[in-house]
Amino acid sequence: SAKNRGKARYEIFSPAMHNIAMKKLALENQLKRVISKKELVVYYQPIVALKNNLLVGFEALVRWQTSEQKLISPQDFIPLAENIGIIIDIDLWVLREACLQLRFWQEQGLINNPLSVAVNLSTKQFSQPDFIENIDNILAETGLEGQYLKLEITENVLIENAELTREIFKQLQQREIQICLDDFGTGYSSLSYLQNFPINKIKIDRSFISQMDDNDSNPAIVRAMMMIANELNIEVIAEGIETLTQLEFLHLLGCHYVQGYWFSPPQNREKIELWLESFSQNNLQNCNNWLLPS
Ligand code: C2E
Ligand code: MG
Ligand code: MG
Ligand code: MG
Repeated sequence: SAKNRGKARYEIFSPAMHNIAMKKLALENQLKRVISKKELVVYYQPIVALKNNLLVGFEALVRWQTSEQKLISPQDFIPLAENIGIIIDIDLWVLREACLQLRFWQEQGLINNPLSVAVNLSTKQFSQPDFIENIDNILAETGLEGQYLKLEITENVLIENAELTREIFKQLQQREIQICLDDFGTGYSSLSYLQNFPINKIKIDRSFISQMDDNDSNPAIVRAMMMIANELNIEVIAEGIETLTQLEFLHLLGCHYVQGYWFSPPQNREKIELWLESFSQNNLQNCNNWLLPS
C-alpha cells in the first residue's frame, strides 16, 4: 500500500541521513583536536625544473594520521576544516612545520641549491587581520628566509577581497615570498587578474595534463596557458604528470616546472631524507631517472 511504501521510504532515507550527519559530527569533533593531539603530518612532493631535471623544491601537503593509524587525505577533511574554522590553525601549523623542515634540511646540508617549499593556503587565511604577523613570526621562529617560501592560493582569493589581497601581496613581495596560483584553469574568474596581481607562478591543474596522454591529443588549452603566462612573465608549473608522453608534450611547450607521480608522489619526511641523502652521497646535481628508494 501507499502507506507501507511511504514507511519504507522513511526507513530507507532517514536513518541513512542520520548516520551521515552523525559521522560528520564525530569527524568534526575529532578534527577540532587534530592539532593538540599532534595528528597532522606533512608530506612533501618534489618539483623539478624541466630544462635541466634539477630539483627546485617541494610542495607541502598535509595528511591526517588518526589515532587508529588511518591516513586521511586532505580532500576528505580540508572542506570540513573550512566549515568549522579550524583551517586557519591547520594552515599555520603546516606552514610552521614546512618552514622548520626546510630550514633543518638546509642546516644539515641535505640541500644545497636554493630549494624552496610551497605551502597551500585556504582562502580564509587572507581575511585574517594577523596573517602577515603570523608569517613574520613563523619565519623568525624557524629561521627560514622568505625567499625559500612560496604560498599557493586559488583565484578565489583574488575575487573575494581584491583590495585586501593586493595589500597582502605587497607585504609578501617585500619578504620575497612568491605567490603561486594553484589549480589554474579550473575557476570561473576572468584572466585579467593575472595582470592585476603580482603572481609569480601558475600551476596548471592536473585535469588539463591528463588530457595530453597520446600522440593524437591536442594540448591547445595548455599551449594557450603557456602563451599567456610567457606574455606576462609568469612561470608555469604543470601538476600531476604521470606519463612520459605528458612530460614530452610539456617539454615541447616550454613548460618550466613539473610535479607528479612520474617523478615522485608526496612522501613523508623520512623518505624524502633518504632520497636527498642518496643524492648528496652520489654527488648528484640531478637525477635523470628519478628512482626513489622505496
Ligand atoms: P593541490 O594543492 O592542487 O595539490 C596537488 C594534489 O595532487 C595533491 O593531492 C597531490 O598528492 C596530487 N598529485 C600530485 N601529483 C599527482 C599525480 O601525478 N597524479 C595524481 N592523481 N595526483 C597527484 P593531495 O595531497 O591529496 O591534496 C589535495 C588538495 O588538498 C591540494 O591540492 C590542496 O588544495 C589541499 N591541501 C593539501 N594540503 C593542504 C594544506 O596544508 N592546507 C590547505 N588549505 N589545503 C591543503
Ligand atoms: Mg597546491
Ligand atoms: Mg593544484
Ligand atoms: Mg587543489
